[in-house]
Amino acid sequence: MADRKVRVRFAPSPTGPLHIGGVRTALYNFLFARGHGGELILRIEDTDSNRFVPGAEAYIVEAFRWLGITFDEGVGIGGKYGPYRQSERRDIYKEYVRVLINKGKAYLAFDTPAELEAKRAQIKNFQYDASTRMQMRNSLTLPREEVEALVTAGAQYVVRFQIEPGEQVHVYDLIRGDVVVNSSILDDKVLFKSADGLPTYHLANIVDDHLMEVSHVIRGEEWLPSAPLHVLLYRAFGWEDSMPAFAHLPLLLKPEGNGKLSKRDGDRLGFPVFPLDWHDAKSGECFPGYREAGYLPEAVVNFLALLGWNPGNDEELMSVEELTARFDLGRCSKSGAKFDYKKGIWFNHEYILRMADEAVAALFRPVLREHGVDDARYSDAYVTRVVSLVKGRVNFVKELWEQACFFFTAPVAYAEKDVKKRWSEDTPRIMGELTDLLSGLASFGSKETEAAVMAWIAGNGYHLGNVMNAFRLAVVGACRGPHMFDITEVIGKEETLARIEKAVEVLA
Ligand code: GLU
Repeated sequence: MADRKVRVRFAPSPTGPLHIGGVRTALYNFLFARGHGGELILRIEDTDSNRFVPGAEAYIVEAFRWLGITFDEGVGIGGKYGPYRQSERRDIYKEYVRVLINKGKAYLAFDTPAELEAKRAQIKNFQYDASTRMQMRNSLTLPREEVEALVTAGAQYVVRFQIEPGEQVHVYDLIRGDVVVNSSILDDKVLFKSADGLPTYHLANIVDDHLMEVSHVIRGEEWLPSAPLHVLLYRAFGWEDSMPAFAHLPLLLKPEGNGKLSKRDGDRLGFPVFPLDWHDAKSGECFPGYREAGYLPEAVVNFLALLGWNPGNDEELMSVEELTARFDLGRCSKSGAKFDYKKGIWFNHEYILRMADEAVAALFRPVLREHGVDDARYSDAYVTRVVSLVKGRVNFVKELWEQACFFFTAPVAYAEKDVKKRWSEDTPRIMGELTDLLSGLASFGSKETEAAVMAWIAGNGYHLGNVMNAFRLAVVGACRGPHMFDITEVIGKEETLARIEKAVEVLA
C-alpha cells in the first residue's frame, strides 16, 4: 500500500543472548523507521516456554540501550498496542484461533506423539497435510460429538492450519522480488497447543503484526521459508489489505564466506558475535560481547550497517544520522554478507580518531586505574593531551595504556636491545650535558626545547640519532613513542631530568 504509515518491529525470542545478526536486523528496522518518519516496536516473542531463558529480555534491552537503537513502543516503553510481551497476550491469540476454526481454516488434531511416530514409520517422508490429514485423528475425521467429548474431558490437542494444496503462493519481498512457493509443499502447521494454552510463533507473529499495524516485516533470511505460510495466514483471516511488505535480509557469513556465522567462528578467530558479554547460567559458558571487548557503540552500528547494505558509493564512515538518511531496503544485497571482523576493528580505530580527545580521555581513565595509576593526580587537560598524542596508534581505548604508560609512570626497566644499540660509554657524559642544557631552559614547551636541543647537538657535532635515542630510552624506557619533545613538555622539566638521572645511574 502506497502511503501507509511505516510501522516496523523487532521481535526477538528471549532464548539466550542476542546474536549480532539479530542486532543487524534491529538496526535495519531502526534505520528504516527513522528514515521514513515511522515507528519501531520492540516485541518479545516468548510463547515457546521450553526455550525461554531468564535474563535474555533484559540483555536485549540493555544491548539496544548501549547501541543507541531506540524504540517507540514496546516492552519497557509501553504504547497503545500493548502488551508487547506475547506471553501476556494469550487471550488475544485464543480468540483468533477460534476465528480460524470457525472459518473452517483450522482444525483440532488429537494425534498423540506415539501416533504421529507410527505414521512416520508407515509413510515415507510423512507430512501432516492434505494428503494425510484425513487418515489422522482430528476434527475433520472424528464425529463432532467425539471432538466435543474429547475437549470436555481435557484431552490434549493442537490446532493446525488447514492448507489447501496446489496453489502458487506469492511472497513479495522488497529485496528478493517475487518469491513463489507451491502450497503443496507446506504442512498443516501447528498454530496453538492446548497443553500450555499458547500459540506457536506463526500464529502469534501474524496476529500481532496485524493488530500492531505493522507495515513492513524486515527480518533475517532464515525466516523466508515461513513467509508463504504467513501470507496464507493473512489471507485466511481476511487481512490481505493489511499484509505487510516483506524484506528478508541476507545471512551473515563466516569471515571466509563459507557458511553461516556462528559463535565458534568468533571463538576461533577472536572476535565477539554478541553485543554484550553473556554468562550462560546453565553451561557456565561465557559469550564475549562487543561492549566489553572495547568497541565504541557508534563503530559497531556503522560496521553492522554495511553488512548487507551499501549506500551506492564507496562511502564507509557514516554517522547514524547519515545512515538513516541513506538507508534503503532496495540496496540490501540478496547474497550473504561475509562477517569481516577486521573491518569492525578498523571502524573502531576510525571512530576513536574522530572522537573528541576529551571524550577518549574520559574512557581512558578507568584503564589507567586498572593499571594501578592514581588518575586523580592527573588533570583532564593532561590526560587529554596524552590521548591526542597517541590515539592514532590504537584500535581500542585499552590499547592506549601500552602507547602512553610512560606519561604516568617512570620506566622501571630499559629495553635491552635499545640499550645495546644506543647507550655507549660516552652517553652518560652527553646526558650530563643535556641535563645542564635542559635545566637552564626558561620554557619547556615542545618547540623551544627542540630548538635548544637541536642547536646543542649540531654545535657539538653529536650524532643526532644516538643522542635522541639515548634521551628517549631514558625518558620512555625504550625507543618508541610519539615526538620526543611533546613527551617532555607533557611530563615536565623536573620529571624529565629525574628520568635522565635515573637512567644514567641504572645503566652505568
Ligand atoms: N521471534 C522471531 C525471532 O526470534 C521473529 C521473526 C520475525 O521477525 O518474524 O527472530
